[in-house]
Amino acid sequence: MTAIADLRYASAMLQWDQETYMPPNGAARRGQQIATLDEQAHAQFTSDETKRLLETLLTDNSLSASQQKNVELCWYDFNKAHKLSAAFVGKLSLCINKSFHAWVAAKNADDFALFEKDLQALIELKQEEAQLKGYVAHPYNALLNDYERGSTVAQLDQLFGGLEPKLKALLQTVQIQQQPSTQFLQQHFPKAAQMSWGNALVEALHYDTQSGRQDISEHPFTINFNAKDVRITTRIDEADFSNMTWSCIHELGHALYEQGLPDEEYGLPLGEAASLSMHESQSRLWENCVGRSLEFWQHYLPMLRQHFPEQFKQVEPLDFYRAINIVQPSLIRTEADELTYHFHVMIRYELEKELISGSLKAKDLPAAWNAAYQQKLGIAVPNHRKGCLQDVHWSHGSFGYFPTYSLGSMYAAQIFQAASKAIGDLPQKIAAGQTQPLLDWLRLNIHRHGRQYGSEELCILATGQPLNPDSFIAYLTDKLTKVYN
Ligand code: ZN
Repeated sequence: MTAIADLRYASAMLQWDQETYMPPNGAARRGQQIATLDEQAHAQFTSDETKRLLETLLTDNSLSASQQKNVELCWYDFNKAHKLSAAFVGKLSLCINKSFHAWVAAKNADDFALFEKDLQALIELKQEEAQLKGYVAHPYNALLNDYERGSTVAQLDQLFGGLEPKLKALLQTVQIQQQPSTQFLQQHFPKAAQMSWGNALVEALHYDTQSGRQDISEHPFTINFNAKDVRITTRIDEADFSNMTWSCIHELGHALYEQGLPDEEYGLPLGEAASLSMHESQSRLWENCVGRSLEFWQHYLPMLRQHFPEQFKQVEPLDFYRAINIVQPSLIRTEADELTYHFHVMIRYELEKELISGSLKAKDLPAAWNAAYQQKLGIAVPNHRKGCLQDVHWSHGSFGYFPTYSLGSMYAAQIFQAASKAIGDLPQKIAAGQTQPLLDWLRLNIHRHGRQYGSEELCILATGQPLNPDSFIAYLTDKLTKVYN
């Protein structure tokens, strides 16, 4: 398993380089180099030798509990990977490559027609993948399961169905209030000052820079090669202060999780994160529950002022807090506030279900998208670039990924509530710049377990109950009451 992990992480290293420092002309060969390593890793993992080894270990009674868990999870992964033939994986990979480039061209030209045919072909392959993987009730369940084990349409319909009216009611309440001023966020923030601010911030929040580094990329991401080398990236927009700051804290949350995974389980399931939604819970917890709290800025506004003395000269923590938490229906998911964000996810979720069941065709996607934005957020979509072409996910074939974002936010609120209860005076600690106790709690209750437990199990262990969206609604209501007086 170590050799397979080595191949996978070598591929990840090439990807990191591709997104950060690779000169543009390196792209063509780089795609091929990554594909070769991925194929090698897939072939080794799905080989007869791996199968025999796992079968032997499954009946080996001398293994410790954690060794048994590793074998059990490897067996699950093996069977999942084995359901797709090498020929199918190759076909899918080619289709994804083609559709990604078509999406880039379509987005740049704001012309959906350039993407439509490749998208439809990719959807049909994903439908085939769902058949190969097998499912109960809805083909989309097979794809959901890839990103969140055990997640189903029935469960998500219920979750979003309960969430939507509560969010709508909150949105209506804040929309009739006077909006806080956000003017001071739209000034000029030089690139170099933003970078040094971002680096100082993640270090202050206990990102281990001896086991990681931060660089610039087009889209921020976290990538790990082992628990002692976890890298993050950020992007800088000189006209928008928010963009970099909260993406920095978000990726930091992902990175702290990876740095807290048991290093001795390298290459094994117990050395991996529990799930995508649990990963997102960690990023959202730091970004929103901590990084968008009043207490946090009571401590960090003076430090921010050192980096931008002119821009924040007159700003008080409470005004800052109000400005960064303003709620407003908008077009772009990644720029959405904590409330309306989930409408963006629900829209994608509903459309994905229809695309995968076949009741919606790619050619009808823009119209369905625009109608959904009108219906759920009350806004008109002016062009495809700001509409159905905004996210990369579908061009990658990642159908079923979006719901994990909402699940992550809800887990975050519930986990943060449990941590606050356990720590006692967490708000005061955050206001004093002491986030180590929170990190210690997360290390103990979430990080160190790796993939030992699924999302739901881990949530119960850490918080005492299964996922309950009411924690999120209570968190949001409390925050918006402060923001909007
Ligand atoms: Zn994230």
